[in-house]
Amino acid sequence: MAPPPGLDAVLEFCSRISEADPRLDADLLLRAGRFAAEAHAKQARQNGEPYIIHPVAVAEILAGYRLDTETIATALLHDVVEDTDHKLPEIERRFGAEIARLVDGVTKLSRIEVQSERTKQAENLRKLLLAVSEDLRVLLVKLADRLHNMRTIAFVTKPESRNRTARETLDIYAPLAERIGMEQLKTELETLAFRELKPDAWATIAQRLTYLRGRSEDIIPEIEQELRDTLDVNGVPYEEVQGRAKSPYSIWRKMQAKNVAFEGLSDVMAFRIIVPERAHCYLALGAIHDAYKVIAGRFKDYISTPKTNGYQSLHTGVLLPGRRDEAKIEVQIRTREMHHIAEYGFAAHWIYKQGPQAAQPARSFPWVRALVDILETEDEANEALESTKLELHRELVFCFTPKGDLIELPRDATPVDFAYHVHSQVGDACVGAKVNGRIVRLHDKLENGDQVEIITAKGGQPNPAWLKFVKSGKAQARIRRFAQAEEKQKQRDEGRTAIVKAFRMNGLEFQEKLLEPAVKALRQSGVEEMYHQVASGSISARDVVHAAFPELRGPQRPVEPTALVSGRARLGRSGSAKQTAVPAAPITGVVAGMQLHFAQCCHPIPGDRIVGIVTTGKGVTIHTQDCHMLENFSATPERFLDVDWEQGALGPATHVVRLTVQAVNGPQLLSSVANAISKQKAVLTNLRLGRREDEECDLNLDVEVRDTRHLAELMGTLRACEGVIRVDRAKN
Ligand code: MN
Repeated sequence: MAPPPGLDAVLEFCSRISEADPRLDADLLLRAGRFAAEAHAKQARQNGEPYIIHPVAVAEILAGYRLDTETIATALLHDVVEDTDHKLPEIERRFGAEIARLVDGVTKLSRIEVQSERTKQAENLRKLLLAVSEDLRVLLVKLADRLHNMRTIAFVTKPESRNRTARETLDIYAPLAERIGMEQLKTELETLAFRELKPDAWATIAQRLTYLRGRSEDIIPEIEQELRDTLDVNGVPYEEVQGRAKSPYSIWRKMQAKNVAFEGLSDVMAFRIIVPERAHCYLALGAIHDAYKVIAGRFKDYISTPKTNGYQSLHTGVLLPGRRDEAKIEVQIRTREMHHIAEYGFAAHWIYKQGPQAAQPARSFPWVRALVDILETEDEANEALESTKLELHRELVFCFTPKGDLIELPRDATPVDFAYHVHSQVGDACVGAKVNGRIVRLHDKLENGDQVEIITAKGGQPNPAWLKFVKSGKAQARIRRFAQAEEKQKQRDEGRTAIVKAFRMNGLEFQEKLLEPAVKALRQSGVEEMYHQVASGSISARDVVHAAFPELRGPQRPVEPTALVSGRARLGRSGSAKQTAVPAAPITGVVAGMQLHFAQCCHPIPGDRIVGIVTTGKGVTIHTQDCHMLENFSATPERFLDVDWEQGALGPATHVVRLTVQAVNGPQLLSSVANAISKQKAVLTNLRLGRREDEECDLNLDVEVRDTRHLAELMGTLRACEGVIRVDRAKN
């Protein structure tokens, strides 16, 4: 098989840099280079060169900064995942987890680039910062990638695509390079982008600089020599004095800022003095200020107060005597190390920090964290605003829709949060998700830069179990509301089923319209409410059947009103007594003269389905039919007595029931509950504060009511109180 095109360039590059830097893993770089050359074999650059020439050039730029094997290998592989059929797992298998992670980071940045037209540039910048804050080597590869693309931008045929790339370079990549202190890279990016965007302005300024250089011939070397003489005379040690014309872009920006023509700009030259020690910087400054006239307002001490990107230098501006043009010059004074950091920024830190630690991922270096802090506290006009925003961003995660729209979610958000953010209906119907093209679980956490695609199903419904992992308020609220509605529906269905069953037990065929008389008789607002009341136990299904078909109640066996069934029972206040005598409502099915008691375990009230338990010598104790104390008598069925309430008997409110009120605790809670009770003419006999959690509390109430109908009304009124979440009749 023929070797892939451009392989010779790969081989040449790998052998050259491995020789120059023995720390590098020559074998790994060669494997990465070969693999990339084969992966890109069918592609060509717009200038007709084999595609692999581009990754090699990017790797070359980074090798120039003496970066590590992983970064250079990432540069060689940086377009493989995005532009060929080879996917990340293969990169990981071949080159290890660290390189795979870096390549993945660069791929994510490329994705941001593609959609930058859709969102605002400044916002993009922040996303970019966030996406790279984990490992700045990703950003370095991206910057080198952009630099090579800018160097070869002339070969891109479409003017609008050239323009967009240049704009993006100026708005995003050059400022990023500056933020991490890479002055040289920033200047080159700016110059290339400026030349593309404003070719006329660039040509004019460049021409003018050439003209000035030509006309005054050796003016830069001449001034360099003059500065050296000044330092010598004052006995200041120095390593180097170097002059240069400022970059066309920085001159143009100054022209814009000061609104002057090029002719009006006198300081287009800058000189740099490199000295051995920090203290020499101030000595050199003293000598310069002593020899020349200082331009007011131009002196800056970035040594005692470094720029946020770590830049250190003394800056001053002076007037050179005896010259008409170009009389003002800028002078920068710094040590060799300060110079290195100024030119190479992040990469310089990398060089200085190399050694045994170099093999570790960059995130383990504390200065990477420090650098991220620098990125987050850029000194721009709205610094305060900006830095608080970025502080917040650590609590956020940014993801993309398949169309490239940006979505902001709380940290640790899941695909379900994402789905609800897109639209509540998307959330409801969500059944699965793909992150960066791979199926994930719904509770998996999203990461910065993830592209998320939600899979929905027609008629899909939210799962209350999602509440355990969703992070966004929107998703929580929506799922919770759904869960409550579902619970309510379930309760309604339970109530309906109980009534249907009661109908069947009485030999009746259930029809909803047969319930109409019962709704009226039991004073319900409608069939639905009645279903709920049955489910919650406030009304029994048998009551409903009997209310609908009063004839089913069977022969009336009224008890003679005797002393036993008159008077007011003081239930709940009789202290140790387990049962209380003297019922207020007549009971059918009890032989006259038998003593009646109401069980304290279940507090039966008129309307409840009841049963009597005969106790020799004590009489009959009335329990509700669902009271679980009845289990104790299951071995002696002969003690059960079939009893019922006398129909139509409306006694005074004398039967105690116990209610549990779940409510949001607030200053009005107790008074509105008390009002509701008195409004219904019920009597509160006991009140206890139960479980308390956060804002919520339980109230346990003992209330005297007439019958179940009265109870239902009272419970309804209580439910209407502000802050009340639910009201239940306590069972046992
Ligand atoms: Mn590239």
